[in-house]
Amino acid sequence: MYLVLLGPPGSGKGTQGNILAQRLGIPKIATGDLLRAAARDGTRLGKQAERYMTRGLLVPDSVILGLIEEVLASPDAATGVIMDGFPRTIAQAEAVDRLLRNRHAQVDGALLFDVPRDELVKRMIGRGRKEGRRDDTREAIEKRLIVYQQETEPLISYFRDRGVLREIEGAGTIECVAERVKEAIAA
Ligand code: AMP
Repeated sequence: MYLVLLGPPGSGKGTQGNILAQRLGIPKIATGDLLRAAARDGTRLGKQAERYMTRGLLVPDSVILGLIEEVLASPDAATGVIMDGFPRTIAQAEAVDRLLRNRHAQVDGALLFDVPRDELVKRMIGRGRKEGRRDDTREAIEKRLIVYQQETEPLISYFRDRGVLREIEGAGTIECVAERVKEAIAA
């Protein structure tokens, strides 16, 4: 099963993705995690990406499309993937569709996590303190929310038009939201 986790930064995609991955027994792959690891390792990709990430901007598609191709071509992704943090642009969504089509698969579901803006900011500020993520600063958070609206929100209609969008109320406890995810997938 190929699932996309959609929603603004701080909406719980990572946390819920981990729970879901365990439950379904398919890997969750997060481009943000891969990029942060590459930046820590100081690879060419990491260095390129870091400049954008710290400013709250999207890493350009010219850089990301290769990474997505690698992820979806890996043996780990042979029977399914939970995609956390990608696709994030229409060009990326089209690339995902094309790559999955090559393996006779498609996006089976796109789960959209809906969380009020104030709650998103509160969560990210808290995470910045706890995990020291460099893009969880007030300035970068504001930028990331704007970028989400401009670049990623169009994916909501993209997946709705394909009949795979499932909207999930993302406020509430982790357990509560996990239960809603379970129901949305069963539906
Ligand atoms: P995340 O951990 O998903 O919040 O991603 C952190 C940052 O990594 C984003 O703000 C972007 O700078 C970059 N990033 C992660 N995934 C993508 C993607 N699919 N396309 C472009 N940039 C990305």
